[in-house]
Amino acid sequence: MLKVTKFGGSSMADAGQYRKVRSILLADPARKVVVVSAAGKRYSGDHKITDLLYLCHAHTQYGVDCSGIFDLITSRYLEIRDELGLDLPLEQEFQALKKRLDKKSITADELVSRGEYFSAKLMAAFLGFDFVDAADWILFNMDGTVDQEPSYEALRNRMGKNGIVIPGFYGKMPDGHIRTFSRGGSDITGALAAAALEADVYENWTDVSGILMADPRIVENPQAIPQVTYDELRELSYSGAQVLHEGTIFPVREKNIPVNIRNTNAPNDPGTMIRERFEVDSDPHRFITGITGKKDFTIISMAKRGMSNEVGVLRKMLSVFERHNISVDYAPNGIDNISVVMPSAEVEPQLYAILAEIQEELKPDSLAVHDQIAVVAAVGRKMAFRPGISGKIFAALGQADINIRMINQGPDELNIIVGVDNKDFATAIKVLYHSFVKQEEEQ
Ligand code: ASP
Repeated sequence: MLKVTKFGGSSMADAGQYRKVRSILLADPARKVVVVSAAGKRYSGDHKITDLLYLCHAHTQYGVDCSGIFDLITSRYLEIRDELGLDLPLEQEFQALKKRLDKKSITADELVSRGEYFSAKLMAAFLGFDFVDAADWILFNMDGTVDQEPSYEALRNRMGKNGIVIPGFYGKMPDGHIRTFSRGGSDITGALAAAALEADVYENWTDVSGILMADPRIVENPQAIPQVTYDELRELSYSGAQVLHEGTIFPVREKNIPVNIRNTNAPNDPGTMIRERFEVDSDPHRFITGITGKKDFTIISMAKRGMSNEVGVLRKMLSVFERHNISVDYAPNGIDNISVVMPSAEVEPQLYAILAEIQEELKPDSLAVHDQIAVVAAVGRKMAFRPGISGKIFAALGQADINIRMINQGPDELNIIVGVDNKDFATAIKVLYHSFVKQEEEQ
């Protein structure tokens, strides 16, 4: 049994968090591979080391001294070291780094990668595990994609009897330079390690007890989702939920390795399990997996009598948006009308040009713009072929006096999307959450 574990920034923020990580690892001998992020925020208002490193690099690029920020970074790590009583001479490494920074002889990627590097050095010393540098096995192609098989093999060759700690977020280019993934990229490192070693599970430890059914800034204490499929995850993150992006964990999806999101601060909570599909449903009474949404959409709708008999109208309408390089999110249609929905920020700068082209090319009887629209999505693989779900959604919104501006459901029935006014956004999410979660609990 092998579990690859990844600990995010908040799990690495100070010595107290390191101790929690250690007891999680000691609780299960299968947890032999550990991937870590740079130190994150200790409290709200604190700074993430990664942000400080980017800031430092930007300062030096403009010829501004960044010694103050650099000292802040150094002292965060030295404090952790000293509080844990570790004998690790990091001072020289920090000094060497500062010299290269002052001489402008270090790239932003390499400098920023040191956040995870020092985290991993400290964690390896604290656990008595071996440090395995990500630059020694994550091998990028020239185009920035990961050369998977050689990378996997390189990691396998580094495995011994002892547990290992790997810094997340970066790897090596063919010319030897360090390259980082995009922000949040330690999740990818963990997924690559799990895929390389064919782990039984990839545990992603963070500071919430799994993916939540709704945004905790809107719904008080939302429940965690026990099981979610990759397809649902995509819907949830696309529609606005701040969750692990399904794209970042493609290496484990490819190998059918389950992902378990867990909470370092509540290690006994089971968290969320992510898989392609589930043989056993842990929660048969729950039909909705999550409720999510985003504000600030614009609907452009046009109507034209007799349009249903005309060929190519939808194509003509959509090609206007294509020419303006705007990706259309939804296109709900009636017999003689078409609506197109997309984020306002994308369409606003080109709005009048777009309207003029629609007018010219489609000659509609009416053309209207509705902005300040929010989309709210109820996502759930178990909604399919279950009558009454959409009825419940519309009834709940109706009772709360929320006017529905748009409705969209695909035939795969993985989600039901409604458009409401921005001002009704939070209420709509709350009302839906409570109508589903409460009713299911009563069953
Ligand atoms: N430290 C990096 C970031 O803040 C990567 C990570 O934590 O996943 O984006």
